[in-house]
Amino acid sequence: MYDKFESLTKEDIIKELKRLREELVVTKTYGEKNTCLESIITYNQLLSSLTGDDVSVNINRILKKQKNSILLSGDKEAKLYDNFSNNFISNKEFFKELTSNLLKTLEDSILEFDNKDYDLYLYPEEDIITLIINFFYEYYPNKLDLVEDMLKKKRVIGVDNLTDYSGVCFHIYKNLPIVLFQRDRNLTLKEFATITHELGHVIDFEDLDSRYSSNFSQKYFYNSTFLELNSLLVETQSLDFLSKNKLNELFVREIQYNNLISTYTNLIGINLFTELDNDLIKNGSVLFCDSDFVKGITNLDLVYDDNNFSFNLKDNLMYGLSGVMASYFNSLISEYKELGQKMYNDFWAYRCDLFRPQLFDELNINQDDIGKRLVKQIKKIN
Ligand SMILES: [Zn+2]
Repeated sequence: MYDKFESLTKEDIIKELKRLREELVVTKTYGEKNTCLESIITYNQLLSSLTGDDVSVNINRILKKQKNSILLSGDKEAKLYDNFSNNFISNKEFFKELTSNLLKTLEDSILEFDNKDYDLYLYPEEDIITLIINFFYEYYPNKLDLVEDMLKKKRVIGVDNLTDYSGVCFHIYKNLPIVLFQRDRNLTLKEFATITHELGHVIDFEDLDSRYSSNFSQKYFYNSTFLELNSLLVETQSLDFLSKNKLNELFVREIQYNNLISTYTNLIGINLFTELDNDLIKNGSVLFCDSDFVKGITNLDLVYDDNNFSFNLKDNLMYGLSGVMASYFNSLISEYKELGQKMYNDFWAYRCDLFRPQLFDELNINQDDIGKRLVKQIKKIN
C-alpha cells in the first residue's frame, strides 16, 4: 500500500501557508493567533529544509505585519516557567518522597540487568510502515484512520537534518500535525519507535483540539508535566509489540533498557532539584553539579559517563514522571485490558491541569504499585 514515507511537496506547503495567512486575519484570540503563527513558522522551516532557501526573512515579514504583538515573547515564556517552578516547589516534598522511593526500588533490578551484544537489522521503509500500521491496528484500532491519514497526506516525513531530536511532532492550526523523524539511509526499529512515539503526540493533539480552545492548548505545550505521557505510552507499547513478534529481539531489548535508564536518569534529576533551595529553583531550570552530589543518591557508574552532570527540571519532570506513569499504565492495560485503559483515560483527562499529588489518591494510584510494576517491567525485559 505504501512504498515509502512521502513528504509534502513545495506546492502543498505553499497552499497551506496561504490558508494559514487567511486564517490569521480572521482569528480573534491571542491563543488562536499564536497557534496560527507557529504553524506558519513550522511550514516555513519545512520549506527551507526542502528547498535550502533561507526563509527567516519571510517569517520576519509576517511577524512585522502583526500589529498586536503576538508570538510568545521571552517574558511570556519566563512567566510560564514561573508557573512551572512554583508548582514544583509547592509539591517538592511529594516529588522528593516519590523519586527517592522509586530510585531505591529500581536500582537493584537495573544492576541485575546484563548487557548483551545485539545485531542491528536494517528495514526498508515499506516494512517500517507496515509495522506501524499493524501495531496501531492491534493496539489502537480506533486510531488507525488517523494514522493512515497522516501517512496518506504525507505528514510523516523523514529528514536528514534534525539535530536535537530523533523525532518531533508539530501541532498545526486546524489541520493534521506534522511528524518529522531523523532518517538515515536505512531504517532500524529505533526509527519505528521514534515514529510511534510521535504518533502518540498526534493522538494526544487530536483529543486536545476536540476538547479545548487554542488558548488552552498553548499553555499545555509550554507548561504541562504530562506532555510526554501519551507519546511515551504508545512508544512503550510499540516496543512490547516488537518483542512479542520477536523482531530484532536483542536490539529491541536494548532500546527498552535505554528507555528505562533514561527514565531513571530523569528521576535522579527531579530528586536533585528537590534538594535545592527554592530561590535556586526559581532562578533557572538547568542544574550543573559535581559527581559527589549525584553519588549521594545513586550508583553513579550506572548512568553517567565522566562529565555529564547537567539536569533540566522541565525535561526531567516531563520525561521522568511521564516515563514512570507510561510504564505503569502499560502494565495495567496489558493486565486488565479495558479496565486498565479506563484508568489511563481517567488520569490522562487531567493532563492539562497543574500537577497536584492528590490526583494519585483520588484515582486510587498507589505509589508502591508504581514501583512494583516498573521492577516487573525490567525483569520481563531482562
Ligand atoms: Zn515526545
